[in-house]
Amino acid sequence: MALELSLRVAAPEDVYDTVIIGGGPAGLSAAIYAARAELKTLVVDMNPKAGALAITSKIANYPGVPEAVSGEELLSRFRRQAESFGAEIVQAQVLATSLRGEVKEVVTSEGVFKAKTVIIASGALGRKASLKGEAELLGKGVSYCAACDAAFFRDKDVAVIGSSEMMTDELGIVAKFARRIYLIPRGKLSDEQQSVVRTLPNVEVLPGARVEEILGVDEGRVTGVAVREDGEAKVLPVAGVFVYLRGNRPSTNFLDGSVETTEDGCIAVDPVESATSQPGVFAVGDVTCNPVRQAVVAAAQGTLAGLAVDKYLRKAKRMRQQWD
Ligand SMILES: Cc1cc2nc3c(=O)[nH]c(=O)nc-3n(C[C@H](O)[C@H](O)[C@H](O)COP(=O)(O)OP(=O)(O)OC[C@H]3O[C@@H](n4cnc5c(N)ncnc54)[C@H](O)[C@@H]3O)c2cc1C
Repeated sequence: MALELSLRVAAPEDVYDTVIIGGGPAGLSAAIYAARAELKTLVVDMNPKAGALAITSKIANYPGVPEAVSGEELLSRFRRQAESFGAEIVQAQVLATSLRGEVKEVVTSEGVFKAKTVIIASGALGRKASLKGEAELLGKGVSYCAACDAAFFRDKDVAVIGSSEMMTDELGIVAKFARRIYLIPRGKLSDEQQSVVRTLPNVEVLPGARVEEILGVDEGRVTGVAVREDGEAKVLPVAGVFVYLRGNRPSTNFLDGSVETTEDGCIAVDPVESATSQPGVFAVGDVTCNPVRQAVVAAAQGTLAGLAVDKYLRKAKRMRQQWD
């Protein structure tokens, strides 16, 4: 998030061969193959607990893993393997991209990363900003990622909106920094969520409140949240708003318009190499709206893209085999 953060601008020598947006099975498989092809590889992942695989409590159909494991555990194995081949992994939210030039830029909450190629693997748990003020104030106090941004709100009052699985996970992180948190759920909190809330003394739940607007567009930063509770309009004066409403759209709100998408917002790719309409930009996994959404399919696409990036950078006609 841009708030109170001076973005690191990468030096020319920091140009990566490939920056991968998203650390789910698709992105990490791409990282394994790219790094193993000795490409300078960076994975930027917003939250290792928030992707479609990460929130899956038990997975029993991933080939070669006969014991039932949690998605989180399976992903940590992917990460270890990618890092063992030299891939770097940074936890940050991608806010914007500039993909047209030969050197592409990925603007994140931790700085700007430059790369010769970009692989988009951000999944399909994104959402279209729907609250009034949300889109305008994203990165100016509105965040979808506590692990990325909660520290900006040390000793400040914030609002947390929504009741998705990710909210349960991230509320504890926000609570470590914020002075007071107004939790505005959408619908009833589950028993698990209620027990999490009970352990956090700085959380005040507003169960009947409905958000009307995130305030501060004119000031260029969040100044409050306008809510209606029991028919009464009020303003919660907060400096930050963490939004965890459910959504299942492709996560592409950081795209710069140079990459072709379908009517449903999926990134259009060629099925062999996962190349997009923008040279040097590839997309894999759920963000491409696979007809079959399974971890192994996402991983296979990531593999193809990791190899395709190597081929693209070598300006080669064929992909390099990796078993010799
Ligand atoms: C509830 C549920 C149960 C499932 N069960 C199974 C199952 O049993 N077996 C199976 O094979 N498949 C299952 N799936 C499907 C499988 O999880 C997905 O097909 C697979 O995870 C897709 O992989 P992906 O890498 O494309 O996306 P994801 O796994 O969603 O990973 C995307 C990653 O990108 C990150 N990201 C998103 N936006 C940004 C951004 N702006 N900046 C930085 N990072 C970003 C996210 O934090 C996330 O880590 C299940 C899915 C769900 C939702």
